This record gives sequence, C-alpha cells and structure tokens, in this order.
Amino acid sequence: EVAIRDLSKSFQISGRRLDVLSQLSLEIRSGECLVIVGASGSGKTTLLRVLAGLETADDGEVLIDGRPVHGVGSERAVIFQEPRLLPWLTVLGNISFGLEVRGEPQAHARETARQYLSLVGLDDFAEAYPRQLSGGMAQRVGIARALAVQPEILLLDEPFGALDAMTKITMQEELSRIWREENVTMVMVTHDIEEAIFLADRVLVLPQVRGGRVKLIDIDLPRPRDRSASAFVRQRE
Ligand code: ATP
Repeated sequence: EVAIRDLSKSFQISGRRLDVLSQLSLEIRSGECLVIVGASGSGKTTLLRVLAGLETADDGEVLIDGRPVHGVGSERAVIFQEPRLLPWLTVLGNISFGLEVRGEPQAHARETARQYLSLVGLDDFAEAYPRQLSGGMAQRVGIARALAVQPEILLLDEPFGALDAMTKITMQEELSRIWREENVTMVMVTHDIEEAIFLADRVLVLPQVRGGRVKLIDIDLPRPRDRSASAFVRQRE
C-alpha cells in the first residue's frame, strides 16, 4: 500500500512561485489501478515523478507499506511515453540489462527476460534491435523491461500517448490483462478519459485551479471490461 501524506510541490518559474501540488493526501491500495487525469499543467507528471522518487517534494511524504521512501527504489518501476530502449542492445538485452545491473547472473537474467518478453507477446523478437520495432512493439518491450525487475508498483506516464488509435486500444487491452496477471499496483497518468475508465479502479482528478480540491472517482465495473458504449451501459446495470 502507498500512502501520500500532505504532499506539496512548487516550482520557481521566472521568479514566481508556482504551487503545483498542495497538501495532497491519498492512499493507493495494493493491486489497484489508479489513473490520474487533469488539465494540462495540473501536476499529473509532477505527482508521478514524486511517487517515482525522480522529484523531491517540498513537504509531506510518500510511504510504501508504512515506510517513507526517498529517491528511486526497486519496488517502483516507471514507464514513460517513449520507452527509451538502448539502441545497441537487442530486445532481450534491453530487458535483461536492468537485472544484470542489479547483479543477477546473465544466464538467469536472460531467462527472466524471456518470460517477460513472452508476457508481452514478443517471443520472436528477442534478437531484434530497437530500431526494427514499431512504436507499439517498443512500448511492449518497455513494459516487459519494467515488469522484469518485479516491482510492487508500476508508474506509467502517458504510456500510449505516442501511439496511433488502433495500437493504443490493443495496448490498453494488453496492459489490462498483464495488470490482472501480474498483480501489480498501477498508477498511470493519461489525457485520455476513455482510457482512464477502461483501466482504472479509481480515477484521481487533479484540480485545474490552484488550491482546488482533488476528486477521486470509483470506477465500479466488472473485469475484464468490454469497451463498447452499449457494454458500458450494460455493465453499469
Ligand atoms: P501535461 O498534461 O501538460 O503533461 P501535467 O499535468 O503533467 O501537464 P506537470 O508536467 O506536472 O503537469 O507540470 C505542472 C506544472 O509544473 C506546470 O505548470 C509546469 O510548468 C511546472 N513544472 C513542472 N516541472 C517543472 C520544472 N522542472 N521546473 C519548473 N516548473 C516545472
């Protein structure tokens, strides 16, 4: 479980203070999918970066299972819009790299990497290089790489933002399946409300106005979800 307590973050821009997050408190339940939405500039990425430990809060704290966290940690993995794969390594090499850096013997790391490559349906591309992949495939590798280190929490910042509409739908469905299979807690930032409803257990809406209140919306629909509008109505009944 993740607890966010009285988190505040501001930036200095051109000599003025911009309060991006003000005393935000929130519990993220183990295994849930929390999706963060809000207007551009409302602080979605900032919140995700603080959770990832890539940004320090001015005030407040983030606790994981009751322990305050500082900086990055292996229990959290981050997925960005661009997967930023290492071009000189194969797909398999990219996934196993993080494990090898942590000191896993190469043979074992590669075996684990293969399992995660299989999870994202890319068994046949183990020896391919990143430049040979489509955008969707590259992001699948990014997901496999993040999960291979077996994080408790997966933090995703607009992971499908750069993909075309059709690929995006396929990837959302895959992510939903993976999330159910892997039993990982997910926190995801998106601009896409449909994506939020499809994936989220709860949607956190950051206020557009500084000092406004955050809203938390329960998405109480059965899984796996059917994404057609009529199914949405049926599921609600
Ligand atoms: P978008 O939907 O456009 O990605 P967002 O909701 O993710 O926006 P953030 O990227 O978190 O918003 O930014 C929130 C505010 O904080 C913005 O006004 C931005 O200018 C400011 N900001 C973010 N990072 C920095 C930084 N490193 N230095 C200064 N200001 C920053």
